[in-house]
Amino acid sequence: MFMGVRGVWAALWCVLVLAARVDATARGSLAPMTYRRLADESAKATGGDAKGSWNEWRYRSNEELASAMDALHAGPCAGISKLTTIGTSVRGVEMRAMEVSTQPGVEQTKPGIMLVGNMHGDEPVGRELILRFARLLCIAHERLGRSAGGDEPGGGGLEKDLSDEASAKDLLDEASAKLLDEAAVVARNARVFLVPTMNPDGFSARRRNNANSVDLNRDFPDQFNEPGMPDRFDARQPETAAMMRFSESVNATAALNFHEGALVANYPYDAISGTNRKAGYSKSPDDAAFRRLAKVYARAHPTMATAANEEFPEGITNGARWYPLWGGMQDWHYVKTQTMDVTVEVNERKWPDESQLARLWTEHAPAMMAYAKTVATESTFGRLTDSVTGEAIRGATLAVAGVDVRFTPTSRRTGYYARFLAPGRHEVTASAPGYYPQTRTANAGERLDISLRRMEDARPSLAPEKDGNDGAAVVGKDGNDGATVVGKGDARRGPKPKPGSAGLGGAAGAGELVGVGELAAAVAAAVAWLAWRWRRRKRARLAALREGTQLSGVRIDG
Ligand SMILES: [Zn+2]
Repeated sequence: MFMGVRGVWAALWCVLVLAARVDATARGSLAPMTYRRLADESAKATGGDAKGSWNEWRYRSNEELASAMDALHAGPCAGISKLTTIGTSVRGVEMRAMEVSTQPGVEQTKPGIMLVGNMHGDEPVGRELILRFARLLCIAHERLGRSAGGDEPGGGGLEKDLSDEASAKDLLDEASAKLLDEAAVVARNARVFLVPTMNPDGFSARRRNNANSVDLNRDFPDQFNEPGMPDRFDARQPETAAMMRFSESVNATAALNFHEGALVANYPYDAISGTNRKAGYSKSPDDAAFRRLAKVYARAHPTMATAANEEFPEGITNGARWYPLWGGMQDWHYVKTQTMDVTVEVNERKWPDESQLARLWTEHAPAMMAYAKTVATESTFGRLTDSVTGEAIRGATLAVAGVDVRFTPTSRRTGYYARFLAPGRHEVTASAPGYYPQTRTANAGERLDISLRRMEDARPSLAPEKDGNDGAAVVGKDGNDGATVVGKGDARRGPKPKPGSAGLGGAAGAGELVGVGELAAAVAAAVAWLAWRWRRRKRARLAALREGTQLSGVRIDG
C-alpha cells in the first residue's frame, strides 16, 4: 500500500507538472501572438506547387493535387509527413496518401484518423478540404506543437514565428486561433492519414463512377451480402482494392469520408439486413459512440446541426434510415478494419462553384478539427501485452460491456489498441487463448494498458492479475488448485499483505496446506515480484514522461 500511494503521488505530481507546463506553453504562446486569418493565409509551401496557390480557391487538377502534396511534404510538413502511392486508377492515375504525424511511417501508440475525399468523381470538395487540412496540421505543428512538447529537435521556432506573425496585417480571429491550437494537438496526438482523391478518373470526367462505370461506394464487401466480407481484391475495382489494402494496413481508429448532395454527418450502418430493402434504422454495436462522433462534427459546423438544416435538424443521420446502401466504404471500414467511419455530405449541391470553396473550408475546417481532436484525445487506448514478456499476444481480443462486438489490437507487434467509446465509464475485458481474461474499467479517453497472465505461468506464490487501478473487483484463477481468487483494490499497488497473515490474496487459503518455510519463501517471492513490478512500471512511466508529454491525458510518444 505504501509503495502504491507513493507511486500514485509521484505519477500525480508528474502529470500536474506536465499539465502546467503544456498549458503554460500552449496558451502562453497564443496570447501574445497575432495571427493572420487561416483561410487566407499566404503560402509558406515551397517546391512544386506555385507559391500563393493556397490563396486561390479552385479545384486542382489531378496533377496539381499531386504536386500540392509534394509541396506540403517538402514544405510545411517536412519531417512529419510520409507520402505513399496506394494504387492506381483504371486510367493509371496514381492514388496518393499522406500521413501526418510526429513519426510518419512508424507504428505509434496513438489513434489513427483517416480522411478520404472524392470517391464520387463529381463530388470534389473533399479534395481541397483534405489538402488544406493537412497543411493546417503541419503549420500548427511547426508553430505550436514542437514548442509545446519539447520532445523533438527544431524546437524554439516559436520566436521566429512570433516575429513573422507580428508583421501580419490582418489578425486571426479567436475561432481561427482555436483551430490552430486544436490542430497542434491533433498533429501531436494522432496519426492522420489523408487520401484527397479516391476516384481521380471520375473527377477528370466529372462523373460519379470510376472509368469502369462502377460506383466505388457500392464496391466494398458487404457484411449482409457477403458474409465474412472476404477481400477478393481481384473482384474489386482498382480504386476500391487500393483503398482496402491501405485501410487494412493502417487500421485507423476513425475516419471521415467526404461527399456532396446534402449537409449531414451520416453514420453506420448504411446497409440493412434481411429482404426488406426499405429505409430503416440499422444500428451498429457502437451506435452511441457513432452518434457522439457524428454530433461532434455537426455541432462544430455553423449550420449543420441547426434548424436551418431542414432535412436533418441535428445534422446527423443513421445511413440506412436515410436510405440504405450496400457495399459502401463506411460499413466496411467499421466491420473490417475497426475504423469508426462517418460519411460527411458537405454541401447540398454537388460540385459547387469554386467561389464557394473558401466558405466551405471556413465552415468545415472547425468540424473536421473537432472530430479529429475528439478521436485523438478521447479514444480509449493502450497496450495489451503478456504480463511476463511485455509482448503483444496472438489472438488477443477486447470487449466492452454493453457493446456487442469484440475488437483486436491495431498492432500485432506492440499490442497497441484504440477504440472510440461513448462518453462515460466502461468495463473493458481483454482475453486471449491460453491467458486468464482480465476485466478493467476506464473512462472513455483514458489510457488503459492491460497485461494478461499466461495460464501456465500461474504459480500459487504469485498474486492473480489485478491490474485495475479503480478498485473494481477482478477475478483471477489460480492455475494449480483451480480456486477462484477475487482480488480487490488498486492493483498497481498490488495486494496488501496483511500483518501476520501468511498469504497474499488467493494464496492465503493455500497457507494451511503448505509448510511455514515454504509459505515464507512464497511470500518473500511475491513481495519481491511485486516490488520489481512496481519499479518496472515506475521506470516505464518516468521514461514515458521524459520522452513524451501529455495533453488531455493522451500519451504523445511514438
Ligand atoms: Zn457521394
